[in-house]
Amino acid sequence: MTTPPNPFVKEIAASTVAPPILPIIIEQTARNLFESFSEKLKASLNGRQDRALKLALDGHVSHKAGRIYSVRSEDGKHAYLVNLEARSCTCPDSHNGHVCKHRLAAYLIEQANQNNQAITPTQPADPPAPAAPDPQPLDKEEEAIEKARLVFQARSQFLRESIIYALLQVDGQPIQVEILDIAGDVALVRALPKVKDGQLVPQFPFPERTSVTQVIAKSLSDIHIFR
Ligand SMILES: [Zn+2]
Repeated sequence: MTTPPNPFVKEIAASTVAPPILPIIIEQTARNLFESFSEKLKASLNGRQDRALKLALDGHVSHKAGRIYSVRSEDGKHAYLVNLEARSCTCPDSHNGHVCKHRLAAYLIEQANQNNQAITPTQPADPPAPAAPDPQPLDKEEEAIEKARLVFQARSQFLRESIIYALLQVDGQPIQVEILDIAGDVALVRALPKVKDGQLVPQFPFPERTSVTQVIAKSLSDIHIFR
């Protein structure tokens, strides 16, 4: 784990806009959350709650998209990708089967953000506030557009102004991908569609027939940035 700091990653991290959450909200959320844990879970966490709270309070957690967060390590030298939906984190502690402090910190920010929104109805001016929530249940198409909007809000200015293509080897076959994000050693990539008989055909080459996956950034080759 001696990867030198990557200026590209830094640019992305620096330009990620997160709505401000009052520290007291984070602390209260942490207290309620950690008190709800069973004694057994508390024992297995072995103090990770305190370190997670510190990460959250010190601004180490950046929202990426959906329930995906980038969490910088305490020393700021690494950034790990946390996927709350998949209950995963790219750090060594998580690979060893532990509920790591990054996951706890990201979950804490997610919960604190919900609590924060509940008490602060006014949205920050930058980025522009999304349209007022529709009290009607969203139909499928509107839901999809809303999700896409959230994804694009989370993407940094740098990524909005550029397209980054690369090749990824999957089962020995090169697959063209667009790099959606990079945090630390991990890249979020989407398989590009293929043109077949003049039609664009989407590709789902990754596990569980998905088009987006996280890969080790070093496994990408032929990276081209257009901007
Ligand atoms: Zn972790």
